[in-house]
Amino acid sequence: MSLSTWPIYGHHWAVDLLDRGLRAGRLPHALLLAGPAQIGKRTLATALAAALICTAEQKPCGHCRACRLTAQGVHPDVRLVAADDSERGREGVLKIDQIRAVQREASLAPMEAPRKVFILRELERANLPAANALLKTLEEPPAQVVLLLTSARPHALLPTIISRCQVLNLRSLPRQQVADALIAHWGASSERADLLARLADGRLGWAVQRLTDSQAWEERSRRLAEARELPRQSRLQRLAYADELSRSPAALLPTLTLWASWWRDLLLMQQGCAAWLRNVDLADELAREASRFDPGQVSAYLARLHAAPTQINQNANARLLLETLVLHMPAVSSA
Ligand SMILES: [Zn+2]
Repeated sequence: MSLSTWPIYGHHWAVDLLDRGLRAGRLPHALLLAGPAQIGKRTLATALAAALICTAEQKPCGHCRACRLTAQGVHPDVRLVAADDSERGREGVLKIDQIRAVQREASLAPMEAPRKVFILRELERANLPAANALLKTLEEPPAQVVLLLTSARPHALLPTIISRCQVLNLRSLPRQQVADALIAHWGASSERADLLARLADGRLGWAVQRLTDSQAWEERSRRLAEARELPRQSRLQRLAYADELSRSPAALLPTLTLWASWWRDLLLMQQGCAAWLRNVDLADELAREASRFDPGQVSAYLARLHAAPTQINQNANARLLLETLVLHMPAVSSA
């Protein structure tokens, strides 16, 4: 048996499980792929969709019409459904109309494949009516229909949805595996691959996006520069920054993750552990800043930052939380 035709880096256990289920004809009608953002959930779901309708012996072959159209996102029997993010600065919601459209289409015979596959992304963004409608479909799935759900926040889903799916929890990839993939398949230099792999926290999709999207990279530089400036700003300036950031929910968690990476690196620098830095490109700056902050304060602040994503997932008021975070930053010593 060979898994080499699956276009997936890492997650070998998950690919192996799916491949064996596929061969035995024992895949469930609903699967939930869970794991941090940009870890590879959609890539795996798309590969599985291709494998489910591939016409070759070794599935997914990557070459047949079904595989090619699925990879291009245009196969008539494979549908990708996601929340609409077109409203600027607001995180879109997966709505009941979208689930109803899935139900209508699921009741029809496939156009050319033996089955229909629906990939529903970021299911945590479904509102309650949409989630309840989906539950109905999961309870009485039409024959020949496979539902592949993905979520970065499975704890925010209805337990009744989770209980009707087979759940695969995707885990972070080892740093070296991310770096190797960036070099071998995306043509990254070894220096760039090493930096991105350190920053990616095991999320290959995140690293690839930073490699290919200069805007995302500039966003990182800008947000980090702001994070370095904030401890030197007045209360009023900091509160204004918190207010502004709270208005762009999509930027919130990524920004807090960046802040945590900065202060973590600063603490490592203070402890003389430069080899463990994530932001290796900012090592000089981190070394300068390390002497200006008290390690005890930095450590306490990191604990606050690490608690923040959970609080946000539990629907804490983002602005209040940000205000607390900007006002309790470690103090710059004047020495
Ligand atoms: Zn194929």
